[in-house]
Amino acid sequence: MENIYDGVSLFSGGLDSILAARVLADQGLRMLCLHFWSPFFGSPSSSARERWKRLYGVEVEALDCSREMAALVSGWPPHGFGKVMNPCVDCKILLLRLAKRRMEELGAKFIATGEVMGQRPMSQRRDVLNTIRREAGVDGLLLRPLSALHLEPTPMETSGLVDRSRLLGIHGRGRQDQLALAKAYGFEEIPSPGGGCWLAERENARRYWPIRTRLGSPSASDYRLAAWGRQYWLLAEGQACWLVMGRNSYDNETLKKSQESEDLLAGVCDYPGPLALLRRGRSWTDEARRLAGAMIASYAPKAVQAGGEIGVWMKERSGVQTVVRVLPDMERTSFTRMTFDEVKAEKHLEASRHQAEENLERERRRRERLERKAAEPAPSAGEAGESQPAGANPDSPPEQGS
Ligand code: SF4
Repeated sequence: MENIYDGVSLFSGGLDSILAARVLADQGLRMLCLHFWSPFFGSPSSSARERWKRLYGVEVEALDCSREMAALVSGWPPHGFGKVMNPCVDCKILLLRLAKRRMEELGAKFIATGEVMGQRPMSQRRDVLNTIRREAGVDGLLLRPLSALHLEPTPMETSGLVDRSRLLGIHGRGRQDQLALAKAYGFEEIPSPGGGCWLAERENARRYWPIRTRLGSPSASDYRLAAWGRQYWLLAEGQACWLVMGRNSYDNETLKKSQESEDLLAGVCDYPGPLALLRRGRSWTDEARRLAGAMIASYAPKAVQAGGEIGVWMKERSGVQTVVRVLPDMERTSFTRMTFDEVKAEKHLEASRHQAEENLERERRRRERLERKAAEPAPSAGEAGESQPAGANPDSPPEQGS
């Protein structure tokens, strides 16, 4: 493939990612911005890309990482979750791995990011930045142009591909430097520092958490559905039943489009009312469907006013339809929504369990090492005190971080 790019740049659409790409492009480097999107962040829309080009002069390619992000959030991320449900360290490692793959396909030579040292408490500390770089396999390929002057020169700088003197030394949480730079570039619209991520918001964690802990093998489309309507859960005979209730006509239309082969779409017969989606509803028990029907009916005020039993239709994607007769559940207690405190408590428990497993594993490895050492034959008198292996010198200088 013809090499038309010098580097690729992670691009969330936030100010820092825009500035990182512009600082490099201003040196004459040919940069392609990679905009990853998933149910949790980013946008696949071509109009967003055209807008970025028009407003900031950057060329952007959108890349779908929905499957990988859904898998990351559904498991326990190796570096854990942040304050809410944001697995930032592992997310960055993942995006850098994907960016490296794209960089290689394009024949480009490095990956830039808009990270600013010291800006975020966890994922932008120097030691964490080094962990991310190492675990993503991008040693010697990663350039952080906004904070480069606080970091060791990279091979891209020492080789002369990138002019280090035109990189920046921004540090910390202040925004003045970035805003001054945006002004110098003449940006008419100044976006927020990052691109926005729903995993970092409490309200969304209430929607996502039960999907990862109750649904069983959630997919990206499950997390996508979490963005719509009111979300309710019921545990019935060991089965987790997920009901999404439309709040307006836009939600209702989206629920129709989101119906998958195992889902049921539902609504009230003879009265106006919301549409609802019963995810994997075909496998629910009759009782769970009846409770869902009562819940849906309770959101149809005219049906409630009429009093007595009413019908709620439930339709498979194939068109097969059944009707359940229910009394509207005015208490709405059958299906419930998680609070953020419940999410926090479950997250804490899961973190403790993983920590305990890690400690056990560490201890097991330590014992194995000791046993292996004890089984080794003792050195003869002549061998004792021979020179130490390379790297074992206690006076060696510590490894340099970049
Ligand atoms: S805030 Fe969201 S998009 Fe950003 S690193 Fe964290 S998880 Fe990833």
